[in-house]
Amino acid sequence: MKLREWQQQIADIVVKLLKDNFLVALQAPTGSGKTLFALYTSFKVKDKVIFVVRTHNEFFPIYRELATYFKDKKYSFLVGKSSACVYSNGDVDSQDIYCGGCDLFNGVNIEIRDPPVSALNRLKKEGKSLGYCPYYSLLESIRNSHVILLTYPYLFIPWLRETLDINWEEYVIVVDEAHNIENISNLEERRLSKRTLELAISQAKSKEAIDIMEKIKNKIGKISSSDEKYILINNITEISPSEEEMEILLHEYEEIRKEMIRNKNISRNYIGSIIRFFEILNDERVKIFSYSNSLVAKYIISSDFINILNDERLTFMLMSGTMQPLDYLRDVIGIKRKLVYIDVEKITKNKISGSYECLISIDVTSAYSLRSERMAARYASYLLKIFYNSKSHILAIFPSYEFMRFISKFLNIKYLMENSDTDIEEVMEKAKKEEKLLIMGIARGKLSEGIEIVNNGSSMISDVVIVGVPYPPIDDYLKIRVEEISKRIKKDLSDDLIRIQALIAVKQSIGRAIRGPNDKATVWLLDKRFDSLWWKKELNCLNARKIKL
Ligand code: SF4
Repeated sequence: MKLREWQQQIADIVVKLLKDNFLVALQAPTGSGKTLFALYTSFKVKDKVIFVVRTHNEFFPIYRELATYFKDKKYSFLVGKSSACVYSNGDVDSQDIYCGGCDLFNGVNIEIRDPPVSALNRLKKEGKSLGYCPYYSLLESIRNSHVILLTYPYLFIPWLRETLDINWEEYVIVVDEAHNIENISNLEERRLSKRTLELAISQAKSKEAIDIMEKIKNKIGKISSSDEKYILINNITEISPSEEEMEILLHEYEEIRKEMIRNKNISRNYIGSIIRFFEILNDERVKIFSYSNSLVAKYIISSDFINILNDERLTFMLMSGTMQPLDYLRDVIGIKRKLVYIDVEKITKNKISGSYECLISIDVTSAYSLRSERMAARYASYLLKIFYNSKSHILAIFPSYEFMRFISKFLNIKYLMENSDTDIEEVMEKAKKEEKLLIMGIARGKLSEGIEIVNNGSSMISDVVIVGVPYPPIDDYLKIRVEEISKRIKKDLSDDLIRIQALIAVKQSIGRAIRGPNDKATVWLLDKRFDSLWWKKELNCLNARKIKL
């Protein structure tokens, strides 16, 4: 295996730090070869590695490196029952699947050599014909593998972590795209909307259960608001079912679960979503908010989920192209153990991935008080100008859906706009077929964090447009979070929290256009507030050109 220059330069340092029980936070850009580096250094420390990623799609790049450079290492992966169950139609919450009533409730010895997606499809086909469960077989197989690929919930949600029944101390645990740990508690948030209740009502058979859900549905309409921001709700006892009503819902839920497994056809059990929403309210760490006609039960801080990182018996490497700064990892995220922050480009004093040129427009801003029809029309003019001059696709990222829709009214070209149902795979397929497309998404959304349009390892996005500074909305959730964290560390962190979240959102968006070492992109920072030393320094845009319409 031939390591790149930066990998050679710092491999021994990272190995030593991991052996000395430091948590290593590695900041290295996309396309720089982080995955190979993590595998290489981890195997110098321990025999086994766990790679933890955000989505199943991210298994493949790790598999590719394993299949090329670590052929002697056995690998396996785990996906939730909703994806692995042979009777599931996919849109299912794993907790609703009733394995106790299943004729395939057994795992067999399997070996995985093929890529994760084809391996899963093969197991599902074989499981059906040979009579075994792919999920429980995968669960068995991870215990005999050198490399395990998992998604975040299996590491960060305590009860799910325990189901794996492995000795985590035997592994180096690599957390990929680790900037996401800030919001890791979102994995356990619960939502309840009128729509969920309607679907649950249509699934239910008992009149009593239907009446209870009708009652909840009517009250939800009264206490939730259509605003796309979190609004605290202090008292929801009014809509919570009584103990007897919960019993009735639970009974109905179990009946549906059993019927689905009898019919060997498992789809979403909406009553399960309702029950889990009300169950989580018993946890005093949870607060309830209204958000876009739904109720959302959220944990305010992630410390109980990320506490596993502070377990000194375990060896961790966090990796990201947009890692939060060291102080932020300590203060806001709550990492307390020995921690070393390695910014690869700073240490090696070298650019190790593609590059970009920055332009800052000084005649527009998305500042709330200055949003007007005139400002929206100006933004639209910029987008048109960029569209006609770009070499390939343009990714435009907005601070909110509301602002994106407002500006889109002034656009007279074809564009693809993100919404809550957007399927990222479909967008990527569409973009691969077109020569030039204006793709519009929101900061911290599906597209800005996940879209990858590449051809032969190079990005097909030539221009990234940041349409206004993507500060998170200052809503009740953010305010309560700031208050809790500031109280805990006895320091006011509101500015840091807001600024760093905006910075990571911008860097993530730029990263969509830099997928390989030869990529070159143009980054349009369309807000005069970007013309500050802090922003220019953080974005490596000190030589940015200022522009006006
Ligand atoms: Fe459970 Fe059977 Fe599905 Fe396996 S195949 S996850 S045992 S329901």
